Amino acid sequence: MAGGRVFPVWRGIGAGSSISWSQEWSRCLRFREVCQRGRGAIRLPTDMLSFKLPQLFDIHQVPKVFREDGIISGYRHPRSSALDCLLSSFQMNNETVNIWTHFLPTWYFLWRFFLLCSTVNFLSDSYTWPLLVYMLLICVYPFTSCCAHVFSTMSPESRHICYFFDYGALSLYSLGCAISYGYYVMPDCWVNSWIQQHFVPIAVGNSLFCTSMSCYSRFVELQFPQRSKALRTGAFVVPFLFDTVPLFYRVLLFCWGGCGMGDALSNHCYHLLFAFLTCFLFTAHLPERLAPGRFDYFGHSHQLFHIAAVVGTHFQMEGVLADMASRRLWLQTHSSAPSFLGTVGTLVLSFILNLGVIAVFSAPLLWKPRPDCGQQHTPTCECKEQ
Ligand SMILES: [Zn+2]
Repeated sequence: MAGGRVFPVWRGIGAGSSISWSQEWSRCLRFREVCQRGRGAIRLPTDMLSFKLPQLFDIHQVPKVFREDGIISGYRHPRSSALDCLLSSFQMNNETVNIWTHFLPTWYFLWRFFLLCSTVNFLSDSYTWPLLVYMLLICVYPFTSCCAHVFSTMSPESRHICYFFDYGALSLYSLGCAISYGYYVMPDCWVNSWIQQHFVPIAVGNSLFCTSMSCYSRFVELQFPQRSKALRTGAFVVPFLFDTVPLFYRVLLFCWGGCGMGDALSNHCYHLLFAFLTCFLFTAHLPERLAPGRFDYFGHSHQLFHIAAVVGTHFQMEGVLADMASRRLWLQTHSSAPSFLGTVGTLVLSFILNLGVIAVFSAPLLWKPRPDCGQQHTPTCECKEQ
């Protein structure tokens, strides 16, 4: 046996060569150093990935402009960064459900729109253009609302501007309803009448009134909360009532026995039910008003308002689609075809005009000097009363 040993002894790399023990040891130390450096290098991306979720605040810690009736906790920082706002969508706070209840329906309406694109010829069939405008707007309004809820805590000014866009999208949606109702939902006896010929132009005026009034309501919110709420509710109720006049008349005709219910009218009735529920939830602030702090994260009125609005829009879409399909032949023989200018052209013009209104209301907010509130720290007293 070599060396008189039963088992050979492993003496490291280079065993049996002329490298001494001290050389081996210094090699070993170097290897350990490299390993430690390597471990540090490996830890770097782990550190980068371990981000902290934004801190949440109670109602008395945030400026008045961010406070909601009956919501006591779960407020995000009033000067959050854009990244914090995005991350907060995945953190439970008092806006999370508001964000998702309009983000997911956006995808539902987009899916319905793409399905329709494969069956309806939006490019060359002018009869479908009112539907095209309507479908575009029911995808746009929940998405804009979702973005408004995500980024509304970057600053008091950004909060106002985010909601200006939200109101603008809602008022354009009301125009989309008017365009589709004006062509597909109008009762037979009103086709080619004065009201049908002036329905869309009046709806354009309504959308400008709605955006202006709702944006203005934010400027008087802190001094006169009741007046602000009344102005904002009125701003959305006026175009809704105007758009729904043909539908109310059809429901009355049904009640008087002048026409049958049918698929379209039953869907329109469900839509009206949800529209009234939406309006009630928006104005009543229930249930959180009865038990402040109990519904901060789940079940407060704004979340229910979002859900009611989306379910209502679903029934409205079904009603419009049913009317469009079932009345096609009759409408094509008794009324003129929808024009590009009266549908897509009107949408583009109203979009530009509404953007102008939003720009007018946003300008004083963007140009006013901002106090230094110590970004990314706990909200301070100086910033509270903005
Ligand atoms: Zn909302």
